[in-house]
Amino acid sequence: MKVGRAGKVWLVGAGPGDPELLTLKAVRALGQAQVILADDLASDEVLAFANPAARIVHVGKRGGCQSTPQAFIERLMVAEALAGRVVVRLKGGDPFVFGRGGEECEALRAAGIDFEVVNGITSGLAAATAAGVPLTHRDACHGVAFVTGHERDGSRVDWAALARSRLTLVIYMGVARAESLRAGLLDGGMPATMPALVVQDATRAGERRLATTLGSLVHDLREARIGSPAILVIGEVCRETNANSIRPLLESAPRASAR
Ligand code: SAH
Repeated sequence: MKVGRAGKVWLVGAGPGDPELLTLKAVRALGQAQVILADDLASDEVLAFANPAARIVHVGKRGGCQSTPQAFIERLMVAEALAGRVVVRLKGGDPFVFGRGGEECEALRAAGIDFEVVNGITSGLAAATAAGVPLTHRDACHGVAFVTGHERDGSRVDWAALARSRLTLVIYMGVARAESLRAGLLDGGMPATMPALVVQDATRAGERRLATTLGSLVHDLREARIGSPAILVIGEVCRETNANSIRPLLESAPRASAR
């Protein structure tokens, strides 16, 4: 179905939190938006770039209320665009990295709505950089894998295979699953001494960085009371962090922009 006066949807990556990491395109889309459907991972500093006349709808998963069902978000996005509005669907990090951006594109395509995807800096990249860790280093690995620690029924992550791959592992949503991913990686032959890094709230006020090892990961996470949102990076590249020490080290960064 082709709709004559339909609006447009921008699927915009809000980056990890620091507004200076937004793309110019994201800022332009936010400035033109009439409606913004914002994830809770999209920070207030980022929303400050919104068109002052825009209606902002928080469709996040935390903040006391239950997650807004994905189907509802998609329906709202489609309805607003069909009503002729310019809609920004603002998502934490990058829309196409564990952001369900693919599903949202399918819904927009099915409704015949014009849309554009704007990349954001994914939190895995930002977290490593915040700790001074290069995700690739030619002396340490031949690549990097972005992996979710959140396993759905019937689709389990093959941690042992990942251990054997010798790739740097960047794990999203992994804190709650640290125990099982640690066991799987050890089973796959990754040494317990493998350096690991955890960054909570990367590039936001209150960012916390923990340098540890695979063997001590679960213990140190608990000790440091690391909570969501956090990224785990596991691999030789974590040997040198801007903390210059492996474990156990917990730091608070004052502000991303002050680094
Ligand atoms: N599309 C997002 C990921 C969404 S999945 C992106 O590209 O970053 C949600 C997970 O992302 C969280 O559980 C956490 O693992 C990670 N995350 C998002 N923002 C983060 C931040 N500022 N610091 C650390 N981890 C973050």
